[in-house]
Amino acid sequence: MPIRLHNSLTRSLQELQPRTPGKVTMYHCGPTVYSSPHIGNFRSFLFADVLRRFVEDQGYQVTQVMNVTDVGHLTQDDIEGGEDKMEAASRKTGRTAWDIAKQYEAEFHDCQRQLLVRLPHHMPRATEFIPQMGAIIDDLLQKGVAYQKNGNVYFEVARFPDYGKLSGKVLDELESGARVAVNDEKKDPRDFALWKTDDKHQMQWDAPFRGGQRGFPGWHIECSAMSMHYLGPQIDVHTGGEDNMFPHHECEIAQTEAHTGKPFVGIWMHARHLLVDGTKMSKSLGNFFTVADILGKGYSGLELRYALIKVQYRQALNFTLKGLDEARAAIGRVQQCRQRLVRVRDGLERGGAEDLAAAVVAASEGFTAAMSEDLNVSEALAAVFDFVAVVNRAAVSVAGAKAGLAVFARVEDVLGCFGGEPKADVTGEAPAELVALLAERKAAKARKDFAAADAIRDRVAAAGWRIVDAAGGARLERG
Ligand SMILES: [Zn+2]
Repeated sequence: MPIRLHNSLTRSLQELQPRTPGKVTMYHCGPTVYSSPHIGNFRSFLFADVLRRFVEDQGYQVTQVMNVTDVGHLTQDDIEGGEDKMEAASRKTGRTAWDIAKQYEAEFHDCQRQLLVRLPHHMPRATEFIPQMGAIIDDLLQKGVAYQKNGNVYFEVARFPDYGKLSGKVLDELESGARVAVNDEKKDPRDFALWKTDDKHQMQWDAPFRGGQRGFPGWHIECSAMSMHYLGPQIDVHTGGEDNMFPHHECEIAQTEAHTGKPFVGIWMHARHLLVDGTKMSKSLGNFFTVADILGKGYSGLELRYALIKVQYRQALNFTLKGLDEARAAIGRVQQCRQRLVRVRDGLERGGAEDLAAAVVAASEGFTAAMSEDLNVSEALAAVFDFVAVVNRAAVSVAGAKAGLAVFARVEDVLGCFGGEPKADVTGEAPAELVALLAERKAAKARKDFAAADAIRDRVAAAGWRIVDAAGGARLERG
């Protein structure tokens, strides 16, 4: 089945047709490592992860690159304040920009692990690609599409008629604001920096291009340099958050295409902003959560992952703590269903005669169809839960259990939000006092003290577990 993805450039669904048959190249704009990653960042990163997993599931060999922005990410405030995010964090903490970058990069990798992200094949740091950025800047200067003023190098937007083709924007407030605040050296307010000079900046390099001055790169140029280094001048898919579309991706297109003379990206994909409690996340509203904040509240990486991927990446997703509780319940439903199939498969529970053949086909096809249509995770999950309902009602045979587990294993491979194959009997994972209660209940039943046995059952339930009586003896299960 063809995979159709929404291309922000053509504003339409487009079939994924990689430049090299069977192989897909993907570039994702990665984190700026000046503070702890928040859950909004991870909506976008998890969408990239699910995209990669599904494309692999469909038989492609994927090469995935995600950069780490450890220098040069300028925002409007940064430009007006003459300071980038790394430098601002350094000023506030008294530590060097290099130290800060190192710390938050490590934290980012930790979050990736907690959220079960399949690690990209390459995660280059911008600070290690200064020569490659220099080579592009040098070429753009030679071609006359970039110019130098007081050591700063700007891309001349007027020399690239396609500027604006991704975002549809012609003139941005940010750029015109920047002109007023900082300089009149740009020929056109739309022109953007490729290289900047600033004595106060901690991260500095000798100019990696001819005739330049010591300084540091702009943000946009790093993604062009790193994607080209690993993936060549043309890539199949480029993703980011919707806030990356302008100016960042617009500028990436301009400088890369002016440099190579070829279309840069086959399909541009952008994840929508995450809303928290119905509004944009902000520290002043008290609805700003880092990944660590959520894990600190006792939720697992799996539950957070589920809550952040459950809605298709282009749809509005409103994150709430209640949503995390729902995620926990949803994961529990799937885990319990799988657990029963494991028991039937392993002969720990008597099976029936149903082989689930029709349900397996319906679930597999429904899942593939939903994911193939622009990664519709909500629809794909609906197919999974329909399957759970059928399995729960069925007297499943051993063959049916195996087939059902294969469906869940594939879903897990793509979405990664339900955890690995459960154990047939999780009694041993329960808190010791609950295991002791199980023995007490057995004794109570033996002396026919059913009131005591029922009271124990209630205590176990209050702790979030349940007692299941089976042929081989009673056991504990979650929920
Ligand atoms: Zn980027």
